Amino acid sequence: MKHPPRARPPILERRKLKRAAADAERRRRKDKEDARALRELARRHLLVNPVNLRPDNSYGTPEFVRRGYYVDMPFVCKGCGAAQVWAATQQKWWYESAKGDVWSVAVLCKPCRRREQARKAAARQGHLAGSAAKGKAAA
Ligand SMILES: [Zn+2]
Repeated sequence: MKHPPRARPPILERRKLKRAAADAERRRRKDKEDARALRELARRHLLVNPVNLRPDNSYGTPEFVRRGYYVDMPFVCKGCGAAQVWAATQQKWWYESAKGDVWSVAVLCKPCRRREQARKAAARQGHLAGSAAKGKAAA
């Protein structure tokens, strides 16, 4: 026995609706799961907010941006050779508040950085005072 032709579209329509509802449910569950995973990540790590980063024209993406959160980074001071840790909170401040270059990393410990800043400030001051010529003569 043949089905009446009019019966086909409603069945296909029903299937389509059912499939759409199943897709929507799957998406809803995935969004919920993603949101939960993000909350968990935020609870354990200091997250990177890419909106706050200084714009960068490089083709690459720094590792911390790809990772999505900051981790304490050990380094050796180039000034005095002391073993140091660039803390996640300091990195967030540097990249997102101070708008530091996203490819720059800590190279000097705090005392060496202070010394370097003082040296630069003194050099600037000397230049402004017109003693740059004296410096050149001495060198
Ligand atoms: Zn140092």
